[in-house]
Amino acid sequence: MELLRSPAEMHRWRAGVRGMVGFVPTMGYLHEGHLSLVRLSRQRDDVTVASIFVNPTQFGPNEDFERYPRDEARDLALLEAEGVHAVYLPSVAAMYPPGYQTYVTVEELSKRLEGAARPGHFRGVATVVTKLFGAVQPHRAYFGKKDAQQLRLIRRMVRDLDLPVEIVAGETVREPDGLAMSSRNVYLAPDERAIAPLLYRGLCAARDAFIAGERDAERLRAIVREVVGQEPRIALEYVSVADDETLEEIEGRVERPALLSLAARIGSTRLIDNVELAP
Ligand code: AMP
Repeated sequence: MELLRSPAEMHRWRAGVRGMVGFVPTMGYLHEGHLSLVRLSRQRDDVTVASIFVNPTQFGPNEDFERYPRDEARDLALLEAEGVHAVYLPSVAAMYPPGYQTYVTVEELSKRLEGAARPGHFRGVATVVTKLFGAVQPHRAYFGKKDAQQLRLIRRMVRDLDLPVEIVAGETVREPDGLAMSSRNVYLAPDERAIAPLLYRGLCAARDAFIAGERDAERLRAIVREVVGQEPRIALEYVSVADDETLEEIEGRVERPALLSLAARIGSTRLIDNVELAP
C-alpha cells in the first residue's frame, strides 16, 4: 500500500497507474461505514485509493476540528486489510499553503439544512473534494448516504463543473441498535449513547407512516419530533422533509421522492441522520 503525503507525490504515483481508479475520501477514524465504501470500490475498480484528511475549511470556528478523533496507524491497518492500493494523507500545509485563495461554492444546495446550521461547511467540502479529485483523478468516487446533503452537493458540483468522475452512493451502515455509524459517536458518554438510537427510530416511525399512506409533510415531521421528544436529553435542531434533488422543504403533500433528515444534539455531540421517502 502506497502512502502519498502531498499533491506532488500523488501526481507522481498516479501517472504510473493503469486501469479504472476508484476513490474513497474520508476524514479518518475509520468504521464500517467507510470500509463498506472501500469494499464497493474494491469490487468494481482496478485500483482503490482512500484519503484521510481532516479538512479545516469545512469546520466552523466553534466546531470540533481540533478534537476530531484521529488514529492514523489504526486507519492504515484497516485500509491495508481491505486491499487498498494507495492512501492519500496530505498535510493541512500541503493542501492550503500560504496564499491559498480558491474556493468552490455550490450556490443553492449549500444554503439548506446542514448549510444553514453550519455556515461555510459546504464551501469547505466542495473545495476539498475538488482538490482531492484533482490530485487523485479517479474514474469513480464513493460517498455515503449518511451524509445525504453532501452526496447531492457533490453530484451537482460534478455535473456543473463537467468533472469526469462517476459518483457512487453507498448505503448508511448502522450499529445493531440502528444508530448510524459516525466517527463522532466516540464523543457520546455511555448514557448519551444509550438514547442515540431514538433518532433513527423517529425517522423509521415517520417512514412507516409514509409507507402506510401518510403524505402530509408536516405530519411526517411531527412524527419524528414526537418519537425523539420522548427523550428530553436530545435537542432536535431540525427535522426536514425536502425534495430529494433540490432539498427544498416540501409544504403540503409529498408526491415525489423526498429526503427525511434531521440534526440533533445530545450533550455537546451533534449527530445527523436521514432516510429516503419514495412514493
Ligand atoms: P467522513 O470521514 O465522516 O468524512 O466520511 C467519509 C465518507 O464515509 C463519506 O462519504 C460519508 O458519507 C461516508 N460515511 C460516513 N459514515 C457512514 C455510514 N455510517 N455509512 C455509510 N457511509 C458513511
